[in-house]
Amino acid sequence: MSEAYSVKMRASSGGHHVSGAEKIVSAASVSKVASRLVERALSHERGTPDFINVKVEALPEGILRLKALPVKTHVVATPAEGRALAARLLAEAGISRIDEIMARFSETHSLRGAMLLDADTLERLEPDKSRGVRATYMDDAASIARGTAGVKNHYAEAIVLATKVQNAPGIVAEICVSDDPDYVTGYVATRELGYRRITVLKEKGDPNGGRIFLYRGPRDGVAETIEFLEKTPVLVEDVPTISSAANAPRRFEGLAADLESRRAAGLWRECRTLEGPTGPTAIVGGRELVVFASNDYLDLARDPRVVKAAADAANEFGAGSGGSRLTTGTQPAHVRLEDALAKFKGSESALLYGTGYMANVGAISSLVGKGDAVLSDELNHASIIDGCRLSGADVLVYRHGDMEDLERKLGACREHRRRLAVSDGVFSMDGDILDLPRFLEVTRRHDALSMVDEAHATGVVGRTGRGLSEHFGCDLPDILMGTLSKALGSEGGFVCGSRLLVEYLRNISRPFIFSTAPGAPAMAAALAALGILEAEPERVAKLRENVALFVSELARHGISVRGETAIVPIVVGDEKRALAAGAELEKGGFLIPAIRYPTVAHGAARLRVAIMSAHTPGHICAAAAAIAGILGKAGSPPPVGNL
Ligand code: PMP
Repeated sequence: MSEAYSVKMRASSGGHHVSGAEKIVSAASVSKVASRLVERALSHERGTPDFINVKVEALPEGILRLKALPVKTHVVATPAEGRALAARLLAEAGISRIDEIMARFSETHSLRGAMLLDADTLERLEPDKSRGVRATYMDDAASIARGTAGVKNHYAEAIVLATKVQNAPGIVAEICVSDDPDYVTGYVATRELGYRRITVLKEKGDPNGGRIFLYRGPRDGVAETIEFLEKTPVLVEDVPTISSAANAPRRFEGLAADLESRRAAGLWRECRTLEGPTGPTAIVGGRELVVFASNDYLDLARDPRVVKAAADAANEFGAGSGGSRLTTGTQPAHVRLEDALAKFKGSESALLYGTGYMANVGAISSLVGKGDAVLSDELNHASIIDGCRLSGADVLVYRHGDMEDLERKLGACREHRRRLAVSDGVFSMDGDILDLPRFLEVTRRHDALSMVDEAHATGVVGRTGRGLSEHFGCDLPDILMGTLSKALGSEGGFVCGSRLLVEYLRNISRPFIFSTAPGAPAMAAALAALGILEAEPERVAKLRENVALFVSELARHGISVRGETAIVPIVVGDEKRALAAGAELEKGGFLIPAIRYPTVAHGAARLRVAIMSAHTPGHICAAAAAIAGILGKAGSPPPVGNL
């Protein structure tokens, strides 16, 4: 029996082409693939066909295997920019006259095949000019192994075709633009450059498109070229995995282009799955890494007492709360935790939210609105920024940590009905601490409300981890926000303040009112963690000791950084360099993420090292040495550091 079969499907309606596809598959999957292709024809968005032709042919032994052209995407804004780029790329293959070539797309539009042009004279070389040349008998080598022909993947199919075409004798380049008026992306391919996708190559609404193959060689070689393109079966290996962006349906085109440009700028984001709990070490992709990326600073998330409290609460109250706090969602764990948090922070009262993010958004947007002013540090966390935006108040951003600038700006909004100044207590990407006494002095002088986010201060700052007021020995801000998700090892957010403040938020704050109450297991876990923190303040001291060791180790390697809290950023600057450093550290066994725009400003990318009390001196010394080794490598500028 033959090794492989070609399965081709063509569908038309009223004599007009609707859809077509071809696969090269093993004998075992011929019938499955043929029926999938028929299904595909019947559900095509261009309409229901009245004629479907499926052709199955055995292929000869020893199919030619080719390596896929390398793929690169160029993001451009306009067709003019795209064409100028295409012209530059084709010039590298010794082809000029790009405008004349592109003008021929008005003729290819009516062809089912491609136009074959002499690369220099631009003379048409196909024997049948009404048909063109059809590159066919080709497939992604992986599909023969998978035996599938599911959703049409234009991206992979185009790479397969371009690879075959660039391997045809005499072909020097291809240029392709879709004939779909709404799809403006096209490509240029040569054997040397590979497959160069250009995001905009024609105006939206332009129906002209098609393929032009450019040939350079003797006229009597043309027949051989066409024979190769139309008859020689080819399997293309290593077709790049389809990016979901590149494969998006047309109505998602804008999203796809946005993602492509982010990827090109080194700003692509992906989730990494950790197999098991995140302690100071974690298993990622089957390998153990030392983790310097967790906000579980005191290693309480997996503490057996915390885990047991969550499990017991789940057994008693179930996994979810079943409703909003104001309807059916309040359980004893919520009430107990609110009391315990208020006591721990030294405030009158506390209110829980589903997350810290919701606590910031909920508090800020309830306290100020149209006619009010909110003053926000330029490095505040995104959840504060979003709360400010959502509030509808005038937002005045003051320079990072600059109390004089805050004072000036407060002075400028005396006419506003209410003023709220808000700041991170510990800045999440910089690790520095707000000067709370000055912040309180300035805000009080201007009769403004003061709000401080203690997400990274709780359990870390102050001798027993109570936060900034303990650290400075000063009053609490009017509104103190915190999370259960960091040093308290659970999840959820809270606001502490006066009874009046909490009553007000309970009545007004939409994320509190309109969201399901956090589940009893998370609340019981946080309550247990808070108990441990109060009973074992030595954990906070150990964390501080570890930070000091890390800073002194880095200094020994010539990198000077500030180590006031558990967050130690090492500013690298360039996004791609930071990413490369993160990747190299991962290869070396350390999980230390590169933080990039939009989390920090453009050009301020950094490695963000988060220290835990459970890191051993061995972990810390090895990480410092690895960071110094990577950032100090020959050829790269010395690290900037954060001092
Ligand atoms: N504020 C700050 C300063 C944070 O770093 C974070 C979490 N990254 C939050 C608020 C939000 O907290 P949560 O993760 O609990 O939503």
